[in-house]
Amino acid sequence: MLVDWLGPDEVDMNSESASVVELDVGRRLMVLAQHGGACRWLDDALRCRVYAARPYDCRLYPFSIEPSRDGVSASLSLLSLTACEDTRDGRVSAAELAEDDHARFVELAEYHALVSRWNRLARHRRRLGHRARSAHEFHEFSGRLGRPER
Ligand code: SF4
Repeated sequence: MLVDWLGPDEVDMNSESASVVELDVGRRLMVLAQHGGACRWLDDALRCRVYAARPYDCRLYPFSIEPSRDGVSASLSLLSLTACEDTRDGRVSAAELAEDDHARFVELAEYHALVSRWNRLARHRRRLGHRARSAHEFHEFSGRLGRPER
């Protein structure tokens, strides 16, 4: 599985409320699958095994992009938790990072709309006395796991 589902005892559901999905096992938050405290897709040589299809957050790492208040410009910085020697890498394009950052937020907004639709249907099903649906059915509903690699 590409993802895991965290419950309320594992993650603060309030900070990600628009991403919380109502499933048959309760309210859950979808995250990248982990193994031994690290991303499941990291191989023994510390390389990403799904590099071409990695999420936008991974594409943007180790950069942080902060939009200005008026939304017209943005500032780009390195996250403090990385030891990256940024002066040795001249291949990073700020324009490409900004494009990925924009795409990340478009994708997140689409996901929130999808979750909202699913949760509305889940509440409707509950009112009608139908069984709640599973994570597998959510994946089918979203069609996201079948997306082509970028
Ligand atoms: S780049 Fe992302 S998907 Fe790939 S191993 Fe790292 S955290 Fe996992």
